[in-house]
Amino acid sequence: MTRIIILLFLISVSIFGNTVTKQKWKQGQKFTNYLQLNGISLDLLKSLDELEKQVVGEIQGGQVFYEIKDDNGKIIKVYIPISSTLQIKIAKNQANEFKFSIIPINFKEDIYFGNVAVKNNIWSDIKSQTHNSNLIQKLQKALKSFTSKISKGDNVAFLYSQKSLAGLLSGSPQILIIKIIKPDKEIFIYIDEDGNGHNEPFESVSYVVYEPIIGKTIKKENQKSNINKSKLSFAYPMRSTMITSPFSNGRYHPVLHIYRPHFGTDFGTKRGTPVMSVEDGIVIFAGVEGGYGNVVKVRHSGGYMSLYAHLDGFRASVGDSVGKGEVIAYSGNTGTSSGPHLHLGIYLNNTPIDPMSVIGEETSSVGSILNSVVDAVSTKTYETKKIPIANALKHREMINYRLSTSVKTYDWIDDASKRKLSEDDFE
Ligand SMILES: [Zn+2]
Repeated sequence: MTRIIILLFLISVSIFGNTVTKQKWKQGQKFTNYLQLNGISLDLLKSLDELEKQVVGEIQGGQVFYEIKDDNGKIIKVYIPISSTLQIKIAKNQANEFKFSIIPINFKEDIYFGNVAVKNNIWSDIKSQTHNSNLIQKLQKALKSFTSKISKGDNVAFLYSQKSLAGLLSGSPQILIIKIIKPDKEIFIYIDEDGNGHNEPFESVSYVVYEPIIGKTIKKENQKSNINKSKLSFAYPMRSTMITSPFSNGRYHPVLHIYRPHFGTDFGTKRGTPVMSVEDGIVIFAGVEGGYGNVVKVRHSGGYMSLYAHLDGFRASVGDSVGKGEVIAYSGNTGTSSGPHLHLGIYLNNTPIDPMSVIGEETSSVGSILNSVVDAVSTKTYETKKIPIANALKHREMINYRLSTSVKTYDWIDDASKRKLSEDDFE
């Protein structure tokens, strides 16, 4: 009996003694240094494969991560987000050795409802009734061309989705639909993927059409034009544009049960090939970075950063201002690389994105020649087309249902940030 009591006591200590804390990765801190400081054997690194070593290089200074410590203050688990969907997990196995793995981030995504009565001014009413400044920003964008239609006595109801991680709100809310309820009518506002509101479940999208001067259409681009967007158009980082390995946010391997993200695009090339900056910017790093070998990082405007890895040699140094198409380094085979190639990473607000989603033209000299040829033989006009907004009708049904059943006027997640973190939050 005594034994059972002691055993139960020990179990409860090991459960309740663990504490979860939120940390920020120190600027410039190396992964090996972090392991050493926390008494984690560097044997952990020996087990990593090529892609895992590269992923370690993705940990950014200032990155929020989570440590779980036992009641002696010793680390037993660490969770470090490395992209918008994946995180590194370091945890002790049954043999008491620390193991490294890459697992999905355990986001929770919930849909919330609000119904604001307009008493004075729509924005001050939303503010006093929701206390959520992120939400107000998103509602302002969505209601931009509808504000004049809202008057005193109306109700503005809306649905939005919000992600959270470990009880902390993660990212901004996404408005799904808004319904303005007036004494004599109702107006639905459907929200497109960019957060803009439309009074029908369609979005008008502009297309660029090139008309040759001699009278026949020679080129019709079937993509959204960038007329009203500030999206940058990056150049290729080298003349050779043979992609040997595409970007991947981490496909699940069904047999090995592992995730292997590839946070960049690999271009096949010989050693010593000139590597060019994809956009104007400032060199913020030129040195060795783990599995990426010799690396150059360039910071661009708009929150973008580009990373060039496995380089043989550098041409630019930290602090240099470089232009689009300017040679900054030479390709090579350094780091964990299985042959000469260039790994190009592009990051938006420190999150890796698919480089090919923003690379829009050949290196600047080639690009400008192509553009001038097109300009000489054609005129450019814009056409618009109506594209259905995803889930517009489903969201209309949802908000009508909430309005017919809800007794609450606002679901609020106020207490989320006050909640105590739990080990179960992470996987
Ligand atoms: Zn790569």
